[in-house]
Amino acid sequence: MLIETDIAGLPVLVIGPIGLTDAAERRYRRAGAQVISVQSPDAVTPVLVEWAGLAVLVDAARDWGPARAALAGSVMLVEEEAPHAARGRVVLVGAGPGSAGLLTLDGLRALADADVVLTDRLAEVGDVAALAPGAEVIDVGKLPGHHAVPQTEIERIMVERALAGLTVVRLKGGDPYVFGRGGEEVAAAVGAGVPVTVLPGVSSAVGVPGAAGIPVTHRGVSHVVTVISGHVPLEDHRATALAQLGGTVVVLMGMNNLVPIAAALERCGLDADTPAAVVERGFTPDQRSLVGTLGTLPGLVERRGAASPAVIVIGEVVRQSEVWARRAGARELEVVG
Ligand code: SAH
Repeated sequence: MLIETDIAGLPVLVIGPIGLTDAAERRYRRAGAQVISVQSPDAVTPVLVEWAGLAVLVDAARDWGPARAALAGSVMLVEEEAPHAARGRVVLVGAGPGSAGLLTLDGLRALADADVVLTDRLAEVGDVAALAPGAEVIDVGKLPGHHAVPQTEIERIMVERALAGLTVVRLKGGDPYVFGRGGEEVAAAVGAGVPVTVLPGVSSAVGVPGAAGIPVTHRGVSHVVTVISGHVPLEDHRATALAQLGGTVVVLMGMNNLVPIAAALERCGLDADTPAAVVERGFTPDQRSLVGTLGTLPGLVERRGAASPAVIVIGEVVRQSEVWARRAGARELEVVG
């Protein structure tokens, strides 16, 4: 059970060995709690027990019998696993494609432990501040003038905070390593000597087609799936390779280039009747699917005003979706939801 509670003003005792309670103290203070730390098993006096609303047992303190006995029955206890490293660190967290429910449990824990969260996906994971109580949340997708913060600046902020001893979570849409510049951010951390871990996320490349009932592989239909970026031109030699490879083609960041991408695939050998779909804003209340063929999809997208963020799926697997079944004879279909 995940319990969210407002701890502003709550009297909190942070109990643990000297040097290991700092991170917990910092987090609870930032979340607005009143914090007193106790660093020996028998320093939990009746006055402190009377005062405290919550006691956090850090590291070895989880086994401090006298402290537990003093608190038993009157103060709510929270146990913290490992102490934070004295050095700062960076955790890249994949937030998934649309809703906070698709964040992993490890991602959720990393957010809960964060001192700083760098995010450019505020809208997609909902209220980051609630998932990372006490953390400083920096939206690097926007500057006051609404321009995105340049990648080098994001990396600079990330490394600078970690070198200052803080736990920095870099929250990224989908999976950090799928067209997400995760590799560059890991390299920046490694280059600065900052420990870094990467927690995967549900990628829109697989998850969003699935949200529209399109399996990217299907036994007997497609055993190959190729994920491409539509941000760069699809040269003919690649389009030919894709047409020959068969299977499913998933295009991310492709909405502005759908017309040339579809044209290149047709020109290079893919049948214009190949089923094709666009799934917009997957896993949000505004999710919408447009289903047609390679030949009809660009016109359909134009007429319905479909826009980014959206995933384009091309291949026979599109027939597996209920959306396709409902299309029944019609040349195209728009399905909302
Ligand atoms: N790292 C991300 C992808 C980043 S590129 C991941 O693994 O999902 C951004 C592209 O992802 C968008 O242009 C769009 O093609 C796709 N995308 C991300 N979230 C999406 C969503 N909720 N619905 C549809 N497409 C999405």
